[in-house]
Amino acid sequence: MGFHTQRFAESTGLCYDKKECVFWGEYFGYPISLCWNAQRNYLIFTFCVDQPEGVDMDAAIREWQLQHAGFTNCQYQNNMLRGVFVIRGRKPNEATIDNLQLLIEFLQQKRVSPCCAECGTTTGHYQYLLNGTALSFCSGCADRVDQAYAANQEEQTNRKAKPIGVALGALIGAAVLVIVTYILYELGYIAYISGAAGVFTALFCAKKFGGKITLAGGLFTVALCLLVAFLTPCFCVAKDFSEHLQSLDMNSAEIREMCVDLKEAMDTLTSEEIESYIGCTRAELQQTYDEALEMADLMDDHPDTWACFVDLAALMKTEMFSPAKGELIKNILWGVLSVIIAACCTLPGIIRSDNGKYRFRQLI
Ligand SMILES: [Zn+2]
Repeated sequence: MGFHTQRFAESTGLCYDKKECVFWGEYFGYPISLCWNAQRNYLIFTFCVDQPEGVDMDAAIREWQLQHAGFTNCQYQNNMLRGVFVIRGRKPNEATIDNLQLLIEFLQQKRVSPCCAECGTTTGHYQYLLNGTALSFCSGCADRVDQAYAANQEEQTNRKAKPIGVALGALIGAAVLVIVTYILYELGYIAYISGAAGVFTALFCAKKFGGKITLAGGLFTVALCLLVAFLTPCFCVAKDFSEHLQSLDMNSAEIREMCVDLKEAMDTLTSEEIESYIGCTRAELQQTYDEALEMADLMDDHPDTWACFVDLAALMKTEMFSPAKGELIKNILWGVLSVIIAACCTLPGIIRSDNGKYRFRQLI
């Protein structure tokens, strides 16, 4: 049986905010915040309490933690006692109440009083929900906290992304993508990871140089990476084709010279003479002639990598190069896929963190 939030709220008298996954209210006279992490199944507790004279609360809670298994990250700072404990056991609700009881005993033993998290006054404070944690503030501090967050948010909203910075970041990422893809191709590997490497670098640099990534900036960055993830494998293959054409036994001039001889043979010899002198039929000779001429044209039309790259689609259809098609498509798919996966993993978080709203309201 898992941790049951409603039952827990009923048995402790705490309120539960389903949206923010936080329990709040008074427990044994102490205002408490309990944030539940459902995926990892732990609770973050926060008590807004003062530090009685002569007590080092931070040292005390750290020492206390050593004696209580299951509690971690316990600390006292700025009028807040916080820490984490994992929900475990076969009766998680009961185990959690036991853990709370241990904490209450600690607070009672240290004779702490509930107080405002900002100024520490022990009178006239109320609980507020601030970004998913229930904290106590007096009304004056609540106003100041609200204003500070509002001002911060306004500053963040008004901050303009620098387009040149974002573009520069995107270009750096695209360059990384090209280089990694190229190196992996030369080493004989498919570029499973080059897309991700490019996207991570691009978004990191775009944020660094552009100050902020808007949705448009993020999409531009990813689109550039996708384009490059498509073009780079094509360029690598074009380079292979070009090298292949250069490394043939004969250059195009020599092939054309040979063709002149073949043509002369076909024009002057009878079919019987061709068969006895050359050892093939006239039709076969004609075919050899046609193919040789075609090859010479291919070589003359594609003298370098760039020419092969521009004309890649047509080259892929030739008998000589069509076997490379499958490998190229695989390379492109992996590159594009790794760009998309990396973008889906990083982009939403980056955009949310840049456009996130603070959440602050009084709890009643
Ligand atoms: Zn205050």
